[in-house]
Amino acid sequence: MSQLDRAELAQQGAIRADGLRAAGVELVALTFVDNSGIARVKAVPVDRLWSAAAWGVGASNSFDFFLATDDIAGGTYSRGPVGDLRLHPDLDALVPLAAQPGWAWAPVRKYDTEGEPHPQDARALAAAATAELAAQGYRARLAFELEWVITAADAPDDPRSATAGPAYGYARLSSQAAYLRTLVSTLSAQGVAVEQIHPEYAAGQFELSVAADDPVRAADIAVLTRETIRTVSERHGLRASFTPKFEPGGVGNGGHVHLSIWDGDRNLCAGGDGPFGLTRTAEAFGAGIFGRLPALLAIGAPSVVSYLRLEPHHWAGVFSAWGLENREAPLRLVQGPAGQRDRTANFEVKCFDLTANPYLVVAALLFAGLAGVSAVATLPEPVDVDPGTLESATRLPTSLAEAVTAFEADSALTTAFGPELATTLMDVRRGEIDRLGALPPEELCAVMRYLH
Ligand code: GLU
Ligand code: MG
Repeated sequence: MSQLDRAELAQQGAIRADGLRAAGVELVALTFVDNSGIARVKAVPVDRLWSAAAWGVGASNSFDFFLATDDIAGGTYSRGPVGDLRLHPDLDALVPLAAQPGWAWAPVRKYDTEGEPHPQDARALAAAATAELAAQGYRARLAFELEWVITAADAPDDPRSATAGPAYGYARLSSQAAYLRTLVSTLSAQGVAVEQIHPEYAAGQFELSVAADDPVRAADIAVLTRETIRTVSERHGLRASFTPKFEPGGVGNGGHVHLSIWDGDRNLCAGGDGPFGLTRTAEAFGAGIFGRLPALLAIGAPSVVSYLRLEPHHWAGVFSAWGLENREAPLRLVQGPAGQRDRTANFEVKCFDLTANPYLVVAALLFAGLAGVSAVATLPEPVDVDPGTLESATRLPTSLAEAVTAFEADSALTTAFGPELATTLMDVRRGEIDRLGALPPEELCAVMRYLH
């Protein structure tokens, strides 16, 4: 049965359009993130917002098979050029864009032409995972941490062209102070709560952290923040690259995810009798994720180039290990300072990058955590050294192909994603392996540098 109340949506769309017009908005960009992690867009004049809300705007089913390179893969559920989906803006997530005057933005939900939810709607899956968590009596709070490299617009392959300061160096910050200030004020005007911004390790690299939020909103914020970084960079004569590996040999761009599980107002990651104060529920939730990291990499590190980043001793987390404040562990427990842990304690998943679709990341992590809770899973002994120095350390997948195999073998994830999405995602991964898998690292980095 259709979930769309079209009359109500038309009315709400018209009301929101009035408000947007009064704020000078003329166009609304409607985005979805595809199976290859690219935010794709259609736009409508503000006068058509009511229609988009009620009836959607058309989009080809073939978008589900797009690779990051814009090639189109085939697969079991492909209909080739046939079929139409309807993209409906989520009016509750509508935001005027402060760095793109006259524009607003909204993420969409996908339906078919009969008004039925599309089984490959990543944002709907993230909402379903959140609802499943709520049905078990819990909620999650999440935040995506963004890392990117800036270059001068006319030297897009040179990470030292826009700022040459050292890693974490004040000189790098001060040389781009106006840019960083505009970026933070723009995000703040769009309702994004920036918590920290700093120069990172790699040449030209910065990192931005935002406040944790509800799962779907956290993914929306990840999309909005990235697109804002891109726009503000362009307006300052810069280019922003979110690729996992700007150049072979360097340190990569991560897309770490912080998450905590709560029972009402109680953070279950602190004050418990499990390891480092985790409650048994939080331990089981973390263990559900930890045990599935190989499969989760097919969602969170979903590109061929992701595996150039996943190297030991680069703080990317490549061994099967977890630990307290261990930056070489793919699952890091962050407690925060004593006295504040009931608010701050959280898990950080470090092995993910920004070629991932954040809605799929949210869904995969929550379903994995839930599987851990229902199995009353426990974490192994934590590791308090660089796991790469241990004889016994085992690597997580070192290629996308290995991660795909692990995902396909994980029935908790494939069942939660449903056959159409689970199958098509892996069709897209295989398409990218066919297209990019044989490229030498230098060339792979160059091809991927400005796609996401
Ligand atoms: N840039 C590192 C990465 O690729 C992470 C550095 C950090 O711990 O923030 O994930
Ligand atoms: Mg960082």
